[in-house]
Amino acid sequence: MKIIVTKNEQETKEFAKKMASDILNSEAKKDKATVFALEGVLGAGKTTFTQGFAKGLKIKEDIKSPTFLILKEYNLDFKNSKFKKFYHIDCYRLEDEDDLDSIGFSEILKDPENLVLVEWAGKIKKVLPKDCIRVRFYYISENKRKISVV
Ligand code: ADP
Ligand code: MG
Repeated sequence: MKIIVTKNEQETKEFAKKMASDILNSEAKKDKATVFALEGVLGAGKTTFTQGFAKGLKIKEDIKSPTFLILKEYNLDFKNSKFKKFYHIDCYRLEDEDDLDSIGFSEILKDPENLVLVEWAGKIKKVLPKDCIRVRFYYISENKRKISVV
């Protein structure tokens, strides 16, 4: 388990960026996607973290919360990495797991070339792999957040 307290948005982004480059340099799973499950209240820093994470993946587009889209797909452009796609999913507006059927989420989870990051992961915990990387955000004060990674 890793725990960090960040004192501003930039520190959260830097932490996330480092996690992304670490994962690019690690082994993909053999039979399924690699999943980051983010949890924490509104404003805790999940989307901020995702923006830093995307930087670490060299994604040029601006990452916004796909609150209305639910899911956004990005191509990864690394010759030597086994990860080819990044999916950012925001479950804030979902009722439960059933709402994901329509976006083909189970197929996305099957592909080892996929990196998947889920905001509000608690809402769909039944369908997430047991071995996903859990990133929990705690609001400490206006600019302070505690982040734990398990
Ligand atoms: P969430 O996606 O969890 O709802 P956001 O990342 O959208 O949260 O919002 C977090 C807000 O808190 C942003 O406005 C960000 O600038 C602010 N903030 C202040 N301090 C921090 C910090 N240490 N880490 C992350 N965000 C912070
Ligand atoms: Mg968000």
